[in-house]
Parts: sequence; C-alpha cells; structure tokens
Amino acid sequence: MKKIISEFLDLVKERNAHEPEFLQAVEEVAETVIPYIVKHDIYYGKNVLLRMVEPERLISFRVCWVDDNGEIQVNRGYRIQMNSAIGPYKGGLRFHPTVNASILKFLAFEQVFKNSLTTLPMGGGKGGSDFNPKGKSDNEIMRFCHAFMSELFRHIGPNTDIPAGDIGVGQREIGFLFGMYRKLRNEFTGVLTGKGMTWGGSLIRPEATGYGTVYFAENMLKTKNDSFEGKTIVISGSGNVAQYAAEKSIQLGAKVVTLSDSSGYIYDEEGIDNEKLTFIMHLKNEKRGRISEYLEAYPNAKFTKGKTPWHEKCDIALPCATQNELNGDDAKVLLSNGCMCVSEGANMPSTKEAITEFHKAKILFAPGKASNAGGVATSGLEMTQNSLRYKWTREEVDKKLKEIMGDIHQSCIDYGTDEDGYIDYVKGANIAGFVKVADAMLAQGVV
Ligand code: NDP
Repeated sequence: MKKIISEFLDLVKERNAHEPEFLQAVEEVAETVIPYIVKHDIYYGKNVLLRMVEPERLISFRVCWVDDNGEIQVNRGYRIQMNSAIGPYKGGLRFHPTVNASILKFLAFEQVFKNSLTTLPMGGGKGGSDFNPKGKSDNEIMRFCHAFMSELFRHIGPNTDIPAGDIGVGQREIGFLFGMYRKLRNEFTGVLTGKGMTWGGSLIRPEATGYGTVYFAENMLKTKNDSFEGKTIVISGSGNVAQYAAEKSIQLGAKVVTLSDSSGYIYDEEGIDNEKLTFIMHLKNEKRGRISEYLEAYPNAKFTKGKTPWHEKCDIALPCATQNELNGDDAKVLLSNGCMCVSEGANMPSTKEAITEFHKAKILFAPGKASNAGGVATSGLEMTQNSLRYKWTREEVDKKLKEIMGDIHQSCIDYGTDEDGYIDYVKGANIAGFVKVADAMLAQGVV
C-alpha cells in the first residue's frame, strides 16, 4: 500500500513542484483515500484521484488599479475551478499578500471534499489575489475589488461558479465585487454568497463557519457524553470565523480565554464574555484595529506578541486563523495541558505532525473540511434562497446548519470509525467526500 501511495505522490510532486501547501493537502487525502480505492473495484484502476488533483481550469489574471496617491498598482488575481462533477464551482476568495497558486490549489482541493460532505450540490473552487487589504482606504478597497471583478466576471455565474469570502474578503468586499458584476452583466443573480441582508444575503451566513465549527465539536463531545458547558476554550484568529466560534462557545456555557491576529494573542483569564466580544467585533470589523488594543479596554488581560495561543491551558482548541498555524510541538503542549478536543475553523491549520500527535493521543480531532463546512453549507442555503427569491428566518437557517453539521459528523463516523472504536475524522471526511464526487465522475465518463 505504501508503495502505491508514494508512487502516486511522486507523480503529483513532479507535476506540482514548488507547491508545498497543495502537496500537503493531497498527501493527507491520498493516505486515507488510496487504501479505500484499492479495496473497491469500482474506483480501482480508473485514476479517479489523479483526475481530482488536476484543476479543471486555472485562471490567472492581471489586476491594475490606482491607489489614493494616484500610483498605478499591479496585483495578480486567480480563480481555480477544481471540480464541477456534483455542481457548479463554489468556494471563497482570499485577499492576502501570501496568496499564490499553491495556496489556492490546496484550498480548492479541500473545498471539493468539503462541499461534497455538505450534502448540497456544489463543486469546488477557490480564488483570490496577492492584494493586501491591510491599511488600505475604503476607496482603494473598492477600486481594487472593481478591477478584480472586471476580469473575473467572465468566468463565473450563478450556474457556473459562485465565489464567497475568505481571509481579507468580508461583506464590504463582497458588496464591491457584486456591484461590479451586476453592472457588467446587467443582471441581479446569486453569483456571490455572503451578500448583505438587504440585497440577497442569508441570515446566519456571517455566523455560519464559526457556529458550524462549534456545532461539529458539540457532536464530537456527545460521542463521549460531554458538552461545552464549563469548558475552557482557546481560539486563534479574531476574524469572521474566530468571532462567531467564540460567540457560540460562550452561548453554550464555555469560557473563551484567547483570540489572536498575526501580531500575537490576547489571554483573558476571566474569560471573554459577550460584552468583551462586542468590543472585539467593533475593533476588528469597524475600526479595523489590532487585537492588542483589547488591553486598552481590559487591562487585566495579557498580550503576547508574535506567538500563537496553543501554550495556554484549555479543554478545547479551535484554530480559526490560517493554514499551518498549529505544529507538532504546539500539539504536544496542548495535549500535556489536557486538551481533549480540537475542531478546525480554519483550513488546514494543523500541520501533518500535529495531526499525528492528536491521533496518537486519540483525542477528538476534526479536520477543517468537515468542521468548517458550515460556512459553505450556508452559502449553499443562500443560493437556494436566491433561486427561490425567498428568505428563510434566522431560526430556519440555523436549524438547517445544525442538521448539516450533524449529517457531516455522521458521515465521518460511517467512514472513519477504526476497529477499536476510535473515530478518525480525517479518514472519515476524506473518504465520505471522495465517494460522492468519484461516483459522479465515473457516471459522467472521461471528460
Ligand atoms: P478573516 O480575514 O476574517 O480573519 C482572519 C484572521 O486570521 C485574522 O485575525 C488574521 O489576523 C488572522 N491571520 C491571517 N493570516 C494569519 C497568519 N499568517 N498568522 C496569524 N494570523 C493570521 O478570515 P476568516 O475568519 O474568514 O478566515 C479564517 C480561516 O477560516 C481561514 O483559514 C479561512 O480559509 C477559513 N474559512 C473561512 C470561511 C468563511 O466563511 N469565512 C469558511 C471556511 C473556512 P490579521 O488581521 O492580523 O491578518
């Protein structure tokens, strides 16, 4: 088996040299899915996984815009249309200086499995730009978004490819992107998700990824007859996903003690309650400030510069910032401090070494493609509402989100339970995600 996996990975490496994040994501899937393929004749010998690691289309384009000083700026835009076997491409846009083809290919590849897990008919894609929104004025953000969409619009559409937000792309950016799309196409369609509530957005979509990450963890805890009540939670990030993961954790009776950004993390021993979280939401979403400014309002907290929060004692860890933010050594510290559950809100935040540690210790560990799928699932619900020209209530959407997270959890149990009863959520998510897409690809022939 090892030989088959390594031959496959060698081929992928040869074709995608210099794309470490993409290779990391493929390796994690190959190690769990290839043994399954080998045991199932319908998939064996048909190069299904080899077809899945090759994007159906990779679009790269120039984005020129003028900054507030009248200088012409040039960025690179991308859209990776990875797989549309079960539905139109769907996945976020990331604006961050680190964005490159490797990062977007890893995200698009993960998205294919994640979208399949949601039970909704959505293929996988991802896009973005190396544009850095930090420190830019609203007008600069608008000019960039308009320039970006003036090329992207010809590659997307409500039945072709439906982008959403990701790091650096929130409701403000979705608004500017949607405005330009609507003007160029002269049509009002559900081409983007994460829209504002008065122009086609779905209730609960802003909360969905964070809430879903916590719902998934709740499902995991239930397998141990446990809950969030009274637990200490360490969260990284302070953006969209982190904020709502914190909100739901607080609602469920847990104590959230950390949040972070790329400059460091805050630790509040007394717990970040609703009032403090409202302060953080205003600080990050309106003022666009730094997490260290929390101490100006709450001086009893501490700020640790340039570090991640994994060395703080907790029962549950929710990594909600970015890829590879939690390494093997961090995992060892978390475990030695008694952490018993990790639910990934971000995409691929744990390194391979960290996952190995979690599995060795047999704690509850959920990979992002399962635990953070609530965001895209609710985007799927936004698409449905747009098609129906109808709007569900907050309660209706939240109920559907909870059900979907429960279904994803059940799929992980179905495909990932080891002989000793341990639920390997990585294996479960990868195989369950693979089966649906592979079946559709086989049914549609070699295209
Ligand atoms: P936001 O842009 O709202 O927030 C990102 C947060 O992560 C910020 O606090 C940011 O800090 C921090 N961060 C970003 N890069 C780094 C870094 N290199 N090191 C340390 N901290 C960093 O993004 P989201 O909350 O939307 O996304 C967070 C994660 O969740 C990403 O992995 C994303 O792919 C994933 N995700 C998001 C979904 C969504 O619906 N939004 C859906 C599914 C997954 P700073 O402000 O300093 O940059």
